[in-house]
Amino acid sequence: MTAASRVLVLNSGSSSVKYQLLDMSAHARLATGLVERIGEETSRLVHTPLNGGERRERGGRVADHEEALRAVAEELAADGLGLDSPELAAIGHRVVHGGLTFTEPTVIDEKVLAEIERLVPLAPLHNPANLTGIRTARSLRPDLPQVAVFDTAFHTTMPEHAARYAIDRETADAHRIRRYGFHGTSHAFVSRATAALLGKDPAETNVIVLHLGNGASASAVRGGRCVDTSMGLTPLEGLVMGTRSGDLDPAVIFHLMRVAGMDADEVDRLLNKKSGLVGLCGDNDMREIQRRIERNDEAARLAFDIYVHRLKKYIGAYCAVLGRVDAVAFTAGVGENAAPVREAALTGLDGLGLRVDAELNSVRSDRPRLISPPDSRVAVAVVPTDEELEIARQTYELVGTK
Ligand code: ADP
Repeated sequence: MTAASRVLVLNSGSSSVKYQLLDMSAHARLATGLVERIGEETSRLVHTPLNGGERRERGGRVADHEEALRAVAEELAADGLGLDSPELAAIGHRVVHGGLTFTEPTVIDEKVLAEIERLVPLAPLHNPANLTGIRTARSLRPDLPQVAVFDTAFHTTMPEHAARYAIDRETADAHRIRRYGFHGTSHAFVSRATAALLGKDPAETNVIVLHLGNGASASAVRGGRCVDTSMGLTPLEGLVMGTRSGDLDPAVIFHLMRVAGMDADEVDRLLNKKSGLVGLCGDNDMREIQRRIERNDEAARLAFDIYVHRLKKYIGAYCAVLGRVDAVAFTAGVGENAAPVREAALTGLDGLGLRVDAELNSVRSDRPRLISPPDSRVAVAVVPTDEELEIARQTYELVGTK
């Protein structure tokens, strides 16, 4: 019998479950899909087998995560990839907040579940959904190893001087207030893939990773270890994002409460949902913003300029943090696709050794590639992220060989 080498990766959100089944010894992706709008009348499951089968869709209400996972299991079984297969080695779960407890991927048991639960106040939207996904998957396959891979784990190597806010220490410690950072799985994957692209050992490579999706974060990675990142206690800090403000003077919040009469929930919604690109120009999709700029739309132009200005400031800051930079890597939806963002963010940074070759930058590809001229002091790269593969890899490393 061949050793079990398949890993199911589950990313359970509040109303959705995304999944991928990978075969780690064959280096193959077997199936991918998602269930969305769980709990609504308009739920939908989209399943794509990657072994030549047809993409399938089902409608009809999916009441909760348990029903969603049962439906996923049925779809996989229909392709001969059922959860009861002896080839399934483990299930890897994305978990958003691991606090300071979880510095590595962790095999889930009751103690681990209790700790993820204890961290709910730090990620009230995400951790409960992640927990529901884990509990459901455990009820379907109680005998199977299940692993939690934390978004925060890669950032736990940040030194105290980067992780602490300059506020009263006792208050900060009492409420676990510090910078945790997010998107860690992507920053880990991309920093390593960037070193590979340069033909260098990750342990000897310094990389600035710019993860620019709907949420966006930057990180400074020295020798494979994160030394600073732009998201903080929550994913609100740092870069301008699709709907989030990123950095702002904290006094804006008191001002809104005192002068505009908003309560904490209203300010929370404003900064998380009605700010960033959408707050500035009404659109959060960079493609639409680029189309509007071509039509000389001023609000879209200003939103783009504010986005790029913030990005440039972080690149400069992380050059300073790292001292020596080998590469700047762009990733995620905007980073991988929006050549004008990459160009604008690096314009004028020749002094820092950063240059972009216009022709290389305009090439569209889903492979890691360099976009800096060959004689550039610092390499500039576009490196597609693959969080599912990274979660599967970390899960398999932990349990697959046992
Ligand atoms: P998420 O944070 O939701 O995982 P993604 O990494 O998928 O986000 O990025 C989504 C964003 O990527 C979209 O909102 C859009 O702004 C941007 N994007 C995707 N494709 C393109 C493109 N061809 N050009 C510019 N921006 C793009």
